[in-house]
Amino acid sequence: GPVDLNRVVAEAVDRLRLTAEARDIRLKAGGRVDAVVHGDADQLMTAVRNLVDNAVRYSPDGTTVGIGLSSRDGLAQITVTDQGVGISPEEQGRVFERFYRVDGARSRQTGGTGLGLSIVKHVVINHGGEVTLWSQPGRGSTFTIRLPEWEEPAVRGAAPVEPPSTERRGGRAAV
Ligand code: ATP
Ligand code: MG
Repeated sequence: GPVDLNRVVAEAVDRLRLTAEARDIRLKAGGRVDAVVHGDADQLMTAVRNLVDNAVRYSPDGTTVGIGLSSRDGLAQITVTDQGVGISPEEQGRVFERFYRVDGARSRQTGGTGLGLSIVKHVVINHGGEVTLWSQPGRGSTFTIRLPEWEEPAVRGAAPVEPPSTERRGGRAAV
């Protein structure tokens, strides 16, 4: 069904609030926009929560984690930006793999299974979207989720849905 991404983001941020506070990390969520997608609210919440969890976990105390939500051209975009350790270009392609963790020593210290990002990717792809990563080692990372937005039934109704005629078969309508 329809999922309001404002609620997804708000809930994900709420769940990390105490963890962040304990490390003096500021969670800065952006303003509200209309962004409704089709899918599973719990799964989407898990995905956003995993990104915020990483942002907090792989950042020094006292930094800021930004969580943004925007909407453009039928695509909703969620960004999670940190001022943390960053991920090298060589490792950026691997962090979405199951069980992959950068730098064994550091990872052992922070304790995790290496599944978080593979779950994010799985959920986002299941919702017809994509997740991308920008990062600079030592400066921080930005993870971006893009999801196709829910179309109102009324809007869908505006484009007449007709059974495919002979001329239309092949996927292109004669105008
Ligand atoms: P968990 O299963 O508990 O999430 P994890 O955090 O190690 O464990 P992933 O979330 O999949 O697993 O992340 C994989 C690896 O990518 C991490 O171990 C870490 O090295 C790196 N990583 C992920 N997010 C960030 C980030 N925001 N900044 C720096 N490194 C990150
Ligand atoms: Mg993680």
